[in-house]
Amino acid sequence: MARIVVVGAGVGGLATAARLAATGHEVTVFEQAGTVGGKLGRYIHDTPAGAFHFDTGPSLLTLPEVFHDLFEATGAKLDEYLDLTPLDPIVRHVFPGGGPTLDSCADPAEFAGRVGAAFGDRAAADWQRLWRRAARVWDASHRDILRRPVDSPLDLAALAWRLGDLAAIAPGRTLRGLGRRHLADPRLRMLLDRYATYTGADPRRAPAALVAVPYAELAFGGWYLRGGLGTLADALLTRCLDLGVVVQTGTAVTRIDAAGGRVHGVRLAGVAAPVPADVVVANVDALTLYRDLLPSPRRLAGLTDRSLAGFVLLLGVAGETGLAHHNVFFPRDYDAEFDAVFGHPGRGVRSRPAPDPTVFVTVADDPAVRPAGHEAWFVLVNAPRHGTATGAVDWRRPGLADAYADRVLDVLAERGVDVRDRLVFREVRTPADLDAATGAPGGAIYGTAGGLLRPANRGPATGLWLVGGSGHPGGGLPMVTLSAQIVADAIGPAWE
Ligand SMILES: Cc1cc2nc3c(=O)[nH]c(=O)nc-3n(C[C@H](O)[C@H](O)[C@H](O)COP(=O)(O)OP(=O)(O)OC[C@H]3O[C@@H](n4cnc5c(N)ncnc54)[C@H](O)[C@@H]3O)c2cc1C
Repeated sequence: MARIVVVGAGVGGLATAARLAATGHEVTVFEQAGTVGGKLGRYIHDTPAGAFHFDTGPSLLTLPEVFHDLFEATGAKLDEYLDLTPLDPIVRHVFPGGGPTLDSCADPAEFAGRVGAAFGDRAAADWQRLWRRAARVWDASHRDILRRPVDSPLDLAALAWRLGDLAAIAPGRTLRGLGRRHLADPRLRMLLDRYATYTGADPRRAPAALVAVPYAELAFGGWYLRGGLGTLADALLTRCLDLGVVVQTGTAVTRIDAAGGRVHGVRLAGVAAPVPADVVVANVDALTLYRDLLPSPRRLAGLTDRSLAGFVLLLGVAGETGLAHHNVFFPRDYDAEFDAVFGHPGRGVRSRPAPDPTVFVTVADDPAVRPAGHEAWFVLVNAPRHGTATGAVDWRRPGLADAYADRVLDVLAERGVDVRDRLVFREVRTPADLDAATGAPGGAIYGTAGGLLRPANRGPATGLWLVGGSGHPGGGLPMVTLSAQIVADAIGPAWE
């Protein structure tokens, strides 16, 4: 049995802790915040009409079998903890200039039919051709990349080779290039481009292999959890506690002790005595790990290309609007949005909040999250990360957050959804707020941007492991949960 310390109680940290405890290890989780869940955050706003419940992070669960596997590996059944509800539409896409909307769904033939009905037969045929390619990319990436550890530079080289293989299946180099090659209709290209943002990237630079992302969503479905996605954090915490994991919130780790090439434990803020450990699993962003907790200039050097962040509005809305669960309102000029958000640091062009951004609105049809006769809206806009560098925006600048919140509401009104005079309240969450709440540097949601070669799961000292969205195999709830499986498997059971 090893004494294992997990740094951070995000989904990756909790999932790893539960798996390791289920295989006999003694596990302690230290979490700097007062609650668990990390980016899977929640907020409750009380009003005279009743309470509004918000997920402040994820709103869409994909690849449910990954979560079924997790609960099973810890000796439980997911259905006893969580109420998974399939969504149709998964997302309603609203395109610029009016015209038909497009509802995505988990039935490929049905979706191709919807594409045909909205944009014509040619568009449907285009989509089906892209879909066949996407299936091949998914098969290859699922088999070779998503479930395997990345341990060493040698593994990275092998992975790069496999990615080369993927490039042959998905030519066009970038996701944008793949869309150009296969899709004549600009609206379908927009739809495809948006999936680059699921990994924090610009579609003009993201690898074409990311076509596996829409495949996963549209082949295996998009799901809501009744009561909110945050119920996943509750369920994982319960599993951990039932398995004997010690979870200590309000406890920041300030350093990982390593000497002689292996870890020996961690240091806690305000505590003089070190906490000994045989194994340390870091669920913090790789940048935090290699800059602050175990400084490693060589590993830090590869982490410069940061992911985008998110600007969030939490709205209490009076009345019912009839929106779908997820709605995307696209702008006229998608590239202008990416130019604004990412800037051109090399050319000295600063990032800035996009004046006419894509707006993503989530409205759960769930009486558990809003008072009768009201809706709880989660509004998300791609945003530059927080900071003072050219690729970032100082979101603490007085007046900026409120002015941009006004702008986002105006943009929604211009696109036909005006709730400005129906607001019971509005709350703003900037990238700076996400940084403060979860320690995500600059509020970057996915660590580095979009590349498939992410920091390895095995750290530079024996006994150090990386789990979570900034490392391999990537961000998003299912990937993070897969990283927990990869790391727990690599550490192995206590009885081995
Ligand atoms: C606005 C938004 C929308 C999103 N939408 C979706 C979606 O619809 N679907 C989806 O699948 N994913 C979505 N994601 C991504 C998803 O939330 C993340 O990929 C995932 O939750 C990250 O989990 P993680 O394990 O990497 O840890 P994190 O959530 O990053 O947690 C890390 C934890 O470590 C703690 N910590 C940091 N430093 C220390 C320290 N020094 N000591 C102790 N503890 C520390 C933090 O407080 C935090 O709790 C979204 C994210 C955001 C922000």
